[in-house]
Amino acid sequence: MNEKYYNKKIENKNKIIEMQQREIELLKRQVEFYKEEAYTDSLTKLNNRRAITNLEQYDSIIFCDIDYFKKINDQYGHHTGDLVLVELGKILRYHVRETDFVARWGGEEFIILLKNCDIKDAHAKAVVLKNQMKLLSKKLGFNVTLSFGISSLNKDNLKTAINDADKAMYKSKRDGRNRITIYQ
Ligand code: GH3
Ligand code: MG
Ligand code: MG
Repeated sequence: MNEKYYNKKIENKNKIIEMQQREIELLKRQVEFYKEEAYTDSLTKLNNRRAITNLEQYDSIIFCDIDYFKKINDQYGHHTGDLVLVELGKILRYHVRETDFVARWGGEEFIILLKNCDIKDAHAKAVVLKNQMKLLSKKLGFNVTLSFGISSLNKDNLKTAINDADKAMYKSKRDGRNRITIYQ
């Protein structure tokens, strides 16, 4: 009698533990989902800027911004603007190595962090991307160009490196857009 009673109690407790374990698994998966969502840009599916960590492992930064993007939206509509961002996202993803990192910095601005890549190689990579924009423009039927800024990363400028690349990008804008500037 007593044994039966306690066995039933154990059985019930085990069921509760099983249910709680399943609940924990579900919660863990939800945390993973929200974590990924928090670090992913919903339009381009690239990383967003929150995903940038451990800058010290990279050697160079390419910062780029679509030229006169507001005009593209105004002329062809927001939907086409979104399409341009998605296509640019694909180009960037395709042209970075697995060890590099690409993110939508915000709006029409993107950042690439390059590993084992000096400033010369980063410049060459930007030239490739600039040329890819020509191909994309052909595909779209209107011109889309990028202004680039490049900076090198070292221990002394970890905090300012992104800012340096951004400054160089603005110099590209001032000098006429659709060009690459190395921060000096
Ligand atoms: P500049 O050459 O100086 O960079 O000019 P710009 O027009 O590209 O820059 P500006 O900062 O004046 O405008 C950026 C525009 O980008 C305005 C904003 O509506 C548009 N934009 C930002 N995010 C998105 C987006 O997710 N989708 C679309 N379609 N447009 C966006
Ligand atoms: Mg901008
Ligand atoms: Mg712009």
